[in-house]
Amino acid sequence: MRAADVENQITKVLVTEEEIQRKLEEVAARVVADYEGKELLLVGILKGAVMVMADFARALPREMEMDWMAVSSYGAGTKSSGVVQIRKDLDSDLSGRHVLIVEDIIDSGLTLSWLLENFASRGAASIEVFALLRKPEAAKVVVDCKYVGFDIPNDFVIGYGLDYNEKFRNLRDVAVLAPHMYS
Ligand code: IMP
Ligand code: MG
Repeated sequence: MRAADVENQITKVLVTEEEIQRKLEEVAARVVADYEGKELLLVGILKGAVMVMADFARALPREMEMDWMAVSSYGAGTKSSGVVQIRKDLDSDLSGRHVLIVEDIIDSGLTLSWLLENFASRGAASIEVFALLRKPEAAKVVVDCKYVGFDIPNDFVIGYGLDYNEKFRNLRDVAVLAPHMYS
């Protein structure tokens, strides 16, 4: 789905499909250099990170493994509850692994800081984070995120995996949801 298909439901496109793909290539090159000689486990956080994981993994010119975790920190609205619940745990044992968490967005940071603490107790050799998007003005806790795609304003965004009430994940770009959609 393209921005033109939902033009009445968005106020603007923030990051285009092409900008995302270029950024993924850039981050992939950094990751290749940083993890030289190490086995790499990408952990995608469902469901928002599905698109970034799929494209980022394919941008990596090296082997890696993928695992998935599903957590929920949001209800049906647009605000983080701060309460994190594991809906699907990892299949892999993290002990001794070099783990790169792949996230769609860091908003309040509550989900990731909870996840980092949870992962730290599982004995990984290293844990880093790649977040495609980050909202610096929304931070409630500071998260140590090594790879960031784009810092964006504090608006509710949809697309490229990000949803509003489970919709719009299939939009190719990242766009700001029109306020009339939720007020
Ligand atoms: P945080 O705990 O507030 O950092 O965000 C937790 C999760 O909420 C993210 O991983 C996203 O899945 C979702 N989220 C945060 N901001 C947005 C947004 O602007 N649009 C859609 N989902 C969001
Ligand atoms: Mg998410």
